Amino acid sequence: MIKGWYRGILTIVTTLVLFFTQVGGNLALAAGVTPFGPERFAHASATYVITTKSRYYRRIWQSAISAWNKTGAFHFKAGTKGNAQIDLETASKSQAATLGEDVGLTEYTAQNDYLTKVTATLNPSLLQTYGYSHSDDLHVAEHELGHTMGLAHNPSKHSVMYYRNRAVGIQKVDIEGVQLRYHTPAGQSAK
Ligand SMILES: [Zn+2]
Repeated sequence: MIKGWYRGILTIVTTLVLFFTQVGGNLALAAGVTPFGPERFAHASATYVITTKSRYYRRIWQSAISAWNKTGAFHFKAGTKGNAQIDLETASKSQAATLGEDVGLTEYTAQNDYLTKVTATLNPSLLQTYGYSHSDDLHVAEHELGHTMGLAHNPSKHSVMYYRNRAVGIQKVDIEGVQLRYHTPAGQSAK
């Protein structure tokens, strides 16, 4: 009798643990909303510094920052070199060789799913080879900034986070993705 009761409790506990693991691990998104990984900044803001020396690409990064800041979903704040949470760069010729077919790349380090340092790089030689226009370049920068905030790729072409995006700027689904990312604890991702 006592044994049976004990087993009953154990079964309930096991079921609850599984339930919370599933809910906690991966959130189901409303259709179209841009997905995100488990990593995020502590707040919906981060400091950045533009490290590229190219005047053209400095402006590209700056315009992409302004476009995201205008959405109100996240705030990129100007920081100082060495201390900023995000570095915005362009690839040197030797770096470009290691980037392969990537027109942009974002790399990060995180502790307990909190982003500590993020570096986003544009690949000028490939952007030029492919004949990207000024607005195409801007969309690539907006895409990489999406990654710096924790956004993942959106399978839809109508998102700045489509993996091969070139023509599309920041969409409502992308803004909603960032808003949801920062209303969702670190460690939880959403597909
Ligand atoms: Zn990407």
